[in-house]
Amino acid sequence: MIAIVVTLACNSSINVAQIVDSQPASPASNAAPAETAPTVVNAADHSPLPHIDSKRAFQYTREVTAFGERYIGSENHKKLERYIVEHLKGDQVEDDTFTADTIEGKFPVHNIIAKFPGKKDGIIAILGHYDTNYPLRGSGYVGANDGGSSTAILLEFANQLRSRAAEKRDGYSVWLVWTDGEEAVKSWSATDSLYGTRHLVEKWEKDGTLKKIKALMVMDMIAADDVNILRDDNSTPWLLDLIQKAAESGGYQSHFDGIQTPMEDDHLPFVKRGVPSADVIGMPYGYNDVFHHTPQDTMDKLSAKSLEIVGNTILETVHLLDQR
Ligand SMILES: [Zn+2]
Repeated sequence: MIAIVVTLACNSSINVAQIVDSQPASPASNAAPAETAPTVVNAADHSPLPHIDSKRAFQYTREVTAFGERYIGSENHKKLERYIVEHLKGDQVEDDTFTADTIEGKFPVHNIIAKFPGKKDGIIAILGHYDTNYPLRGSGYVGANDGGSSTAILLEFANQLRSRAAEKRDGYSVWLVWTDGEEAVKSWSATDSLYGTRHLVEKWEKDGTLKKIKALMVMDMIAADDVNILRDDNSTPWLLDLIQKAAESGGYQSHFDGIQTPMEDDHLPFVKRGVPSADVIGMPYGYNDVFHHTPQDTMDKLSAKSLEIVGNTILETVHLLDQR
């Protein structure tokens, strides 16, 4: 993801104002009915709220980050591909492999898809990119949050889905997609970005997958300490509202009340094809987004708690989607 970063960087004062502005929009008095208790049980169906193993997810983030720079075409990128696939042993895994023709040359690109079949007809897709920024190669940039956290949370989602589905899950099929080539190789544009998802959307359009997708959610930069998920103007409003509702069930709503701005991320090719999609992205990353796309995007900025907040919320969103 990027593009709007420019907006964030340039208009930080406006954004700060927006943050301040947005706080009174949900006064505490409005929250009174929900104050009875931080809900631990879904009121609608009395099922317990999902709970990821955030320590394990944090450990995944650490291990992924320890590979070092993981830009497309690099040796570490290949190592990470193997690491992801090794964690999906026994799962239904599909490779979407192709060659991206970029202004920096040709690169092999691999989207990795793990499928957890459901009894209901339809698919919930959860995406997160595993490549790290290409222009920053050689700078020691490890993308702990940007690339690391998205890879890790999907691995933990796989654990959760696997343990709950001896056969088919009760709801829709859930497909986890570790996307590749999300980052630009030179400077973000419609043609230099989102290589993996732009390919995947075409493939899914041709094979009929696209029209089966009930909802698609992108995880990006979700582990910064005290994570602040923004409200993306390019996302589908009802899906953002559902995520917000899921967040409220866990008492996490203050982490999903960030600035409102249009984002360009892996959801965009799907938004353009009419797929209900949401970009779940923690921005700004550090005050004024100072850590984003810098060698300071390291593990010490992240927390297991943030992975838990986002992870539990997204699994609860899946649960709510299953009931629709
Ligand atoms: Zn990035």
